[in-house]
Amino acid sequence: MGDKKLVEVNGLTKEFRVNSSIWKNSRAVVHAVTDVTFDIYEGETLALVGESGCGKSTLGRLILSLIEPTRGTVTFDGVNMQSLKSEQLRTMRRQMQIIFQDPYASLNPRWTIRDIVAEPLVTHKVYKTKDEVTARVQELLKKCGIRPEYMNRYPHQFSGGQRQRVGIARALALNPKLIVCDEPVSALDVSIQSQVLNLLGDLQKEMALTYLFISHDLSVVRYLSDRVCVMFLGKMCELGVTRDIYDKPLHPYTRFLLEAVPKPNPRLRKEDKNMLEGDIPSPVNPPSGCRFHTRCPYAKDICAQQEPALRSVEGRLVACHLVG
Ligand code: SF4
Repeated sequence: MGDKKLVEVNGLTKEFRVNSSIWKNSRAVVHAVTDVTFDIYEGETLALVGESGCGKSTLGRLILSLIEPTRGTVTFDGVNMQSLKSEQLRTMRRQMQIIFQDPYASLNPRWTIRDIVAEPLVTHKVYKTKDEVTARVQELLKKCGIRPEYMNRYPHQFSGGQRQRVGIARALALNPKLIVCDEPVSALDVSIQSQVLNLLGDLQKEMALTYLFISHDLSVVRYLSDRVCVMFLGKMCELGVTRDIYDKPLHPYTRFLLEAVPKPNPRLRKEDKNMLEGDIPSPVNPPSGCRFHTRCPYAKDICAQQEPALRSVEGRLVACHLVG
């Protein structure tokens, strides 16, 4: 991990207006991401962790400028993404790609994997001839552990792990600097997960890639990430170096997520009283004060009244009234 900031996220906020009767209020606002600020350094893997619905995928899409923020900015390689016109944005997007959770849904079933991997090369007119495109596709497939002679096959002819390798090959086609990995192994068998994680690690070293690795599972990101950012209901709870977070989680929600990681030895499991109760509150009407207070076993009166600021504690950032 270098010293240069590749991505600077500043006060990033995304609110969606929803017109659904599910929320019983057609003018409801979903507070998907609220006031998120962090940097991603060149060559690092920053893991973004939290339960489903905490806003981590929305944050990934905001960073890629696939959606517009309500407030705040994303600076990529020194350029404010919100200041770019559409053609400039298109050029800039070549440097940032995404790998999706479901490799089957993200690959067009009617296209051969040659066409799937070639698509970004053709769209951005990287090569002049078809042969050059094919040669590059073969190189990318090989790099990702798929035999180039299979390039005329269709996605359904591959296993889940192989399909994810095709998705990775496509993401690498334009030599990006940043890849947002959005739950890239959660749809795969456990036995295949480590193979795909190892591939991502090898490619990072070989191609000097920077990853934003989104996961609901802290066990998945432990050996791959340099730093971990934990989110709850659209807000940052804790951000620090991976080893510190795992050795001594400070925020109660981080502790909960770590205790939720399945342990092979039942004697190592904590008492049930430490586990959280209740559903995640609605992002349409987030709790007052600390958004975690309705589930936090340590909540005090102040937690419902005042929002805890993100403060520097023991070399990391934590948002909790009882820490620091
Ligand atoms: Fe729990 Fe209060 Fe800390 Fe929030 S601020 S995590 S409710 S102790």
